[in-house]
Amino acid sequence: MKAFEYERPVGVTEAVALARRAGSRFLGGGTNLVDLMKLGVETPDLLVDLTGLDLAEVLEQPDGALRIGATVRNSDLSANDAVRARYPVLSQALVAGASGQLRNMATVGGNMLQRTRCPYFQDVTKACNKRVPGSGCPARAGEHRNLAILGASEACIATSPSDFAVALAALDAGVTALTTEGEVSLTVSDFFRLPGDEPQRDTNLPPGALVTALTVPRLDWATRSAYRKVRDRASYAFALVSVAAAVDLDGDRVRDVRLALGGVAHAPWRATRAEEALRGGPATEEAFSAALRGELEAAEPLPHNGFKVDLAHNVAVRTLTELTGVPA
Ligand code: SF4
Repeated sequence: MKAFEYERPVGVTEAVALARRAGSRFLGGGTNLVDLMKLGVETPDLLVDLTGLDLAEVLEQPDGALRIGATVRNSDLSANDAVRARYPVLSQALVAGASGQLRNMATVGGNMLQRTRCPYFQDVTKACNKRVPGSGCPARAGEHRNLAILGASEACIATSPSDFAVALAALDAGVTALTTEGEVSLTVSDFFRLPGDEPQRDTNLPPGALVTALTVPRLDWATRSAYRKVRDRASYAFALVSVAAAVDLDGDRVRDVRLALGGVAHAPWRATRAEEALRGGPATEEAFSAALRGELEAAEPLPHNGFKVDLAHNVAVRTLTELTGVPA
């Protein structure tokens, strides 16, 4: 591993100032960054350790929103009473995301910023547009079984690895960040980006911005929500497909719904077309199936990941039927 400097700022202003140095990286729990340093994918000159900052609280806001500090550990948030009671989808996504040991170390801010697990990205002997812009994307003609079916580009077909972010996208959560110019706020849907011709950029965060908090708006009917994840093995693995859903019922009809898919795109995929089709309609398996088929018309699978289209449909329909009590 390349030698690097290490700083432990005591305040966010100092952290942001340190991040102006070339080659700096913020360090949270290190569960992704340190792995990438060992692989030679990341070669920082300076690590700015954030774990001494005063950003580790979960606070209920006067409007009922939940403000989650960026250095809250994944395990603490998944066990938080308010999160478990009000947003089961969020707690379940965190638990599905990694083993207990990793959840104890990983911060929620780091969770949002973890990099793709595309095998070519993690192998410095291979070309990869995300790691070395312009070098090519061998995944398209190579190993892409786990990669994107929605919103990909010629330059990159990687998938976002975060389960937590999929649940946050369904809940219309926001991200607050600090730069030397001041505070920036983005919705989670605007925070992440599709690869386009700049796959090296995972997010729309300004350079050097420090994620300080996540805000989950009040949504009383999110008590009826769930996260379902399908992976290749019973032990922890990244999602082949995952679904975050919340449903508000009016008798046997859908008053409102939130739906996001994971493991299918470069960003959490908010299924807005399916949501629109479902709002005001019957809460039936047929209606859920038709809405998902409509959403997945945009899919452009490659030879080895076409199975994800049916898998995403089936997992989403199953999740909605379970949440609404529709007989299977
Ligand atoms: Fe790199 Fe993206 Fe292609 Fe994977 S899919 S090799 S991350 S450019």
